[in-house]
Amino acid sequence: MTIKVPYITKWSAEESAPARVLALPSGIGYADETLGDRDSHGVLWSRGASTLGIGKPQFGQVHTPRQRRAMRKLLCQVCAGPADQADDGVLWLLKDHRDDWPGWPNRMAVTEPPVCKPCAQLSIQLCPALRRGHVLVRARVCPIVGVRGIQYRLRFSTLIADEPEVVPFDSARIRWTLAAQLVRELSECTIGES
Ligand SMILES: [Zn+2]
Repeated sequence: MTIKVPYITKWSAEESAPARVLALPSGIGYADETLGDRDSHGVLWSRGASTLGIGKPQFGQVHTPRQRRAMRKLLCQVCAGPADQADDGVLWLLKDHRDDWPGWPNRMAVTEPPVCKPCAQLSIQLCPALRRGHVLVRARVCPIVGVRGIQYRLRFSTLIADEPEVVPFDSARIRWTLAAQLVRELSECTIGES
């Protein structure tokens, strides 16, 4: 069986030294920033090469522009075709966390783009983490709500990088976030066959 590399997986030739981030009066920026570095919310996005298929796939690492494109357009994260959509919503393949809160996964922020049906079946067969427990979820409503990215803060005028977090667009921290992934929030969910 050939192993299919998901569309959103980063390849080794796409590894690059991170661009230098500066502290501005009201958040972070690049020294040589251009218009394309920010989205329509004014959020700064991490930079990187796009050379899909060159080198080795870095399984578990996500390529920012492809994740962003798949999430924005609701493309399958594996094949980049349209994700499966039906009357009860868009199809998502999630690790099973039904015990986390009543009504899970409603109100959950997701960074993994949706899937199409054939890729969902294939992923369940091939991915050990999913084999241990997964659910197929339909979400009728799944707006783009924010980003996931490294959090920056000033400490005695030195810029410190903290761990990545999910930050909503309406948070004051969004100006101090270097976005790496686009986030949608699931609601009106139906848990399907698992
Ligand atoms: Zn697919």
